[in-house]
Amino acid sequence: MLLRLKNIGKIYDSNGILTIGIRGVNLCLDYNEFVTIEGESGSGKSTLLNVIGANDTYEEGELYINGEETSHYSEADWEKYREQNIATIFQDFNIIENLTVLENVELALLRIEDKKERRKRAKELIDRVGLTGQINRRGSKLSGGEKQRTVIARALAKDAPVILADEPTGNLDVKASKEVAALLKEVSKDKLVIVVTHNPEFFSEYATRRIRVFDGKISEDKQLSEPEPASEDVKREEISVSRFHGLKNTLHIGVLNYKSRPKFTAMMSFALFVCAVTLFLVISVFGQSLIKPLTVPLDGAGTEGKVIVSSADGKLSESKLDELAAITGAGYILFDNTTSEFSVTLPESGNLSEEYTVTCIYSPYEYTLKKGEAVLVIPQSAVHDAEAIKTVFLNAGVGIENINTVKTLSSDAVKLYISYNEASENADRISAIYSTVRLGENQTPVYTFRINETLEVGSINLVNSNYFNVVGETAVFSAKAEKAYTVADASARDKSVNGIIVEMNSEDYYAVFETDNEVAEQSVLFFASDELAKKALNKLPEGYMGLLASGSIYVQNPGEAYTEDLMWYGALIAVSLLFGVLISIIFMRSVKIYQADFNVYRTLGIPNKVSSRSLYIQMFMIFIPTLVLLPLVSLVATVIPGSGFTFISAWNFAFIELMLFIIVELVAFGFNKSINGQSIRKSLRRGSK
Ligand code: ADP
Ligand code: MG
Repeated sequence: MLLRLKNIGKIYDSNGILTIGIRGVNLCLDYNEFVTIEGESGSGKSTLLNVIGANDTYEEGELYINGEETSHYSEADWEKYREQNIATIFQDFNIIENLTVLENVELALLRIEDKKERRKRAKELIDRVGLTGQINRRGSKLSGGEKQRTVIARALAKDAPVILADEPTGNLDVKASKEVAALLKEVSKDKLVIVVTHNPEFFSEYATRRIRVFDGKISEDKQLSEPEPASEDVKREEISVSRFHGLKNTLHIGVLNYKSRPKFTAMMSFALFVCAVTLFLVISVFGQSLIKPLTVPLDGAGTEGKVIVSSADGKLSESKLDELAAITGAGYILFDNTTSEFSVTLPESGNLSEEYTVTCIYSPYEYTLKKGEAVLVIPQSAVHDAEAIKTVFLNAGVGIENINTVKTLSSDAVKLYISYNEASENADRISAIYSTVRLGENQTPVYTFRINETLEVGSINLVNSNYFNVVGETAVFSAKAEKAYTVADASARDKSVNGIIVEMNSEDYYAVFETDNEVAEQSVLFFASDELAKKALNKLPEGYMGLLASGSIYVQNPGEAYTEDLMWYGALIAVSLLFGVLISIIFMRSVKIYQADFNVYRTLGIPNKVSSRSLYIQMFMIFIPTLVLLPLVSLVATVIPGSGFTFISAWNFAFIELMLFIIVELVAFGFNKSINGQSIRKSLRRGSK
């Protein structure tokens, strides 16, 4: 005996109100029976079917399966029971509308690992239900009868001994109903078919048994004809629990989810795209000024073994630094005082549309520069003057031969990053660009300084001077205000520049531009190796602080930068999570649809685990296009003239993609949680109106 129900009772408890679904049901059911169940609405037909199909529990009596008691069954046992024994057909078709007939049927054949074999089997079944002509049609394009036939093919694909149909013709016209009934008969050989119906006339020629339910009880149980004896050679496919070769099926279902919900997929992709663009803009606009690299290479000044020193009182003189070098055995020092940052004012002139203050920074912190190189960071507002600003620095003879321009959206300051060599040798010359010279009452800008050895010490030439009558006059310029020079000649003219070029003897020249500011806040000692640098740290006397900058790595304010970065990234991550939550909330509306799909999967014997995991796969697929879209957005931003965007860095790309990935998987997680949180059985109770 396949199934035996002994005194089965099912009581519903909804908020303390008890309703009897069925009671005292005694039935024996076997292979080759074709049973119809009739009865009024609410009499308990669906309940009976659900108990048999283990979609619902029973509270009283005992259900025997192949003679085995089931009252001790665990959830896993039931899952296995459903998987191996039950195929279900509902009134409302229960197919996945956006998948084709073939895909729908194949879903029930996932246990077959070989794809070709699976397809062959699906085609056979589709042929059997007469849908070969519609094999590649989407479920939504099928008529009711065709949908139900698809479901029957799927039920057959499961190859379960028990086929349960709850009002399978409830939504079909007469012709389609007759076809479906005939089909059910056709497939009933060697199976137990139980059909709940309000239209017994369709089944009257096939049914071997008729059961009537009234008020939860069996009111009639009539044998109509002798069922065929079970064939001797009934061969049941041995279905092992591990038949869901997990990952592959998860992937497959994930892809189907993706395909079957194009609207959802498109909207998710769009939402993700919006996130990507937002994060990209935030990072591009604020990132440059906010994200501080913790470790950056120093330029060619030293190769390894650097110690950054500062004194407790914040003041470090060159002579003290020399002492420290002697104590620690440093081979080289960078006395880094005012040269680390200063500004140059470029007045409005023929080429410059307005006055600019250019902050010159010796900063291995942001850029690694070789001798003669500089990087000009130009804000959006100054882009049109970039070339003119560059020209000033390139023509001033201050060691800079090559300037790269970086446009920025983030700051209004024009910055010039100079190399170590320029910082140590030419910083004063750079800062003297457009200093002024005072001749008696008159003040005039100095364009640049040049060496002219023919001049006597203490005298200067003013090239391109309007002051032809000032020979012998006293000149004082702001670069070295405390010293006065005598103008020796003012005859030469250079039409290419606006201001005055000051020519002086090399002795004067160096006197003006030699660094004489004795106090620095921070300086650098260089050693032959990291080893020596490490040892030097211990040798530093009281009152000095040393920071090892290992290898070619220079660490500037690591603590501060670290905290700032942490806060910045923390904020970005928080924004991303917020996005994730927002998208989750918006898309929670689709939960019901997904739940319906998941229930279809479940009736096909696909474990819950597989369907939940498939959701992560689906979301991953939604995520994949952003890997291309983000660089594309970045590229477009770069191409827009004057946008100031630079192409996204690898690090920012990785960061944004990681955030997007977290967002989609967070959405998948939220989805899964709310799907699993709802009772599956409740939504399975369909077909009982
Ligand atoms: P049928 O399928 O014959 O129309 P059902 O088996 O759906 O009837 O229902 C039998 C009885 O159980 C009805 O009184 C119905 O109201 C009740 N019932 C069905 N499902 C539930 C449920 N989930 N919670 C509470 N009562 C239910
Ligand atoms: Mg019903």
